[in-house]
Parts: sequence; C-alpha cells; structure tokens
Amino acid sequence: MPDPRPVQEFQNDGGEQANLVEVTDVKKWFPVQKGFIASLLSRGHVDYVKAVDDVSFTIKRGEVLGLAGESGSGKSTVGRLVLRLLDATEGHVKVDGVDLGTLKREDLRKARSKMQVVFQDPLASLNPRMTVGQAIEHPAQIHLPDTTFEERKQLVFELLEAVGMSPPDFFYDKYPHQVSGGQRQRIVLARALITRPDLIVADEPIASADVSVQALLLELMIKLKEEFDLTYLFITHDLATTKYICDRIAIMYLGKIVEIGLLTEVFNNPRHPYTRSLLAAVPVPDPRHRRTEPLPQGEIPNPINPPSGCRFHPRCPIAVEGVCDVEDPQMARTGASEDHFAACHLRTGAYQHLDRRPT
Ligand code: SF4
Repeated sequence: MPDPRPVQEFQNDGGEQANLVEVTDVKKWFPVQKGFIASLLSRGHVDYVKAVDDVSFTIKRGEVLGLAGESGSGKSTVGRLVLRLLDATEGHVKVDGVDLGTLKREDLRKARSKMQVVFQDPLASLNPRMTVGQAIEHPAQIHLPDTTFEERKQLVFELLEAVGMSPPDFFYDKYPHQVSGGQRQRIVLARALITRPDLIVADEPIASADVSVQALLLELMIKLKEEFDLTYLFITHDLATTKYICDRIAIMYLGKIVEIGLLTEVFNNPRHPYTRSLLAAVPVPDPRHRRTEPLPQGEIPNPINPPSGCRFHPRCPIAVEGVCDVEDPQMARTGASEDHFAACHLRTGAYQHLDRRPT
C-alpha cells in the first residue's frame, strides 16, 4: 500500500518565511440543478460537480505559486475559494493566519482589502461607463473610506506610473475601450494594487493578451511583486509561462493536486505522468525536437462521476490494471527534493516496482 502522509507534510512548513496562505483539505462541490421530472425520477438524489476535491497547499509570503492544469481541472475554483468569493463545502482557507470561513461580512470586507484578483479578460473586469481613473480609484472608496478624493487621485496617478501608463493624466479620463488590451490589463493590475494587498490571485492574467504583450505583462508582474511586496497565486493552463514567474508549481487534475514542488524540480524531474505529458506538450522552438512522452488519451472525465481509483487512470499511458483503477493514490514525497510531492502509485509507495519507465 502507498504511504499516505498527513497533509501538513506536503504543505510548505514555512521555513524562514511565514505562510501567507494555508489551504487545508478544501472541497467545493456544486449541486447539479435538475428539472422537475428529473428530480422526481431521481427520488431526491443530488448529484454534485466535484470541482475541487480535497486540495491542500500553502504559499509563503513573497512567493509565487503556479497552479496549472487543463480547463475543467478546478484551478479557477481554487482561486475563488482562496479569496472566499466562494464558500468551501469542506476544509479551511487561512490567509495571514485568519480562517476566512469564520469571518462575518464586515471582517471579510476588511480582509479582502489585503487580497485582490486579476482575471483573464480585462474588458469584462472593467465597467465600460467608468473612466480609467474611476476604475482604479473605486476599491479605495470602499476599503480606504478615510481618504479624500485628492489623496485617492494621487494614488491613482502613482499606480498608473507604476504599471507603465505614463503620463498618467493622459490615461486618467479615458474609457476602457479607448486603450489597448495590454493597457487594460495594466489598469486592472493598478486597480488591484490600490488597497496595498499582500496577495494577488492572478487567474490567467496574460491569456487574452497578444504573445508580444504577454512577455511585457509578465515582466510587469515581476516588477510589481518586488515593489509592492506581493505574493501571487498564478493560475494558468499554459505551463510555458510559469517558468518566468513561479517559484513553486502545483499541477491540478480533475479537482485534485497531483504534483507540487519547486518549479525547477517539477520541470526537471516531473514525477506524475500527467505533469510529464503537460510538459511534453509545451512547444520547443527546435524543429529537430521529437516528443518522447505520450499525450493523455481522450478528454478530461466528467467531474460529477470521476473515475474510480486514480482519476487519471483512463487517460494514463502507464496505468496498471487492478491498482490504478482501484486505489486512490495519496500525495507522498517523491524525487530528490524535500518539497516535491506527487500522487501516483508508480512513483511513490508500494507499487514503484511496477514502473518500467526510466526515472
Ligand atoms: Fe497513472 Fe496509475 Fe500513476 Fe494514476 S496512479 S498517474 S493511473 S500510473
């Protein structure tokens, strides 16, 4: 049998830096809405979409944790749970030592000033009737009620400069449709910074930008992280971008984290077959490069009725019948690093002898 370890062992223990975010055994199950006839036929049985199913991780203050996986893996739901934009079905999310699930409305509002989110589509995130200045100032009206309009305007100017939109008075009275897509994402970043947050959940923050602009936005996010002492949860479907910004990376598949570790460790020595295939799919600018790792077969399964045993087994190129389809692999230490964990029978625990792949 595999050697499942307590959750705390594959969480980062903090070391010299304290944990800013602690996510422990978190689940988010959404009940499936049924029509009247379907409800009668099912005799009250409720199905659930298990969008997040027992996820644990930590993020140190000042760290960038990447959360990567295919669409439908549950990574954006994790982002919303970390900000308590969604309530967890089970488990706990602590930010700066405070369990967000215990906070009442007013305390949650105060806690939210220290956590901000940047979504993929800046056009959808910005109110088309608000000018750039109004959009950036808006969170300060809610979270910094003691500031005057002039003080907030000064803050907006400073933030426009910080995100590279200079001179700020040129952009202050413009509307979102009057600036480019890349500039809109800079405005969203400036708006996120006005309350001086500790944590930014960046959900596919560069996915909607042109490739040429993506690199500039990543550069900007790294610069802002240093200037404003930020911690990022960087959510992406694109593993290639994580290597420019992330310190550690967690790979999600069908509501679970299947591998987590230092980015260099996971990239150089991926242990889970899903991670290996995701990395193999990252384009390499070399026409002589040949893919050595098979891609997962088929589509991501239905999260209402996930596969038995290891959820990846129907798509896994090396699944072992009678093991992978029966037992759910638990996270366990793997590889050479203390901080590298994976959930795969063939990489941890009692079934490693069945793995015929080179390490
Ligand atoms: Fe593949 Fe089995 Fe490992 Fe799951 S436990 S990833 S099916 S080898």
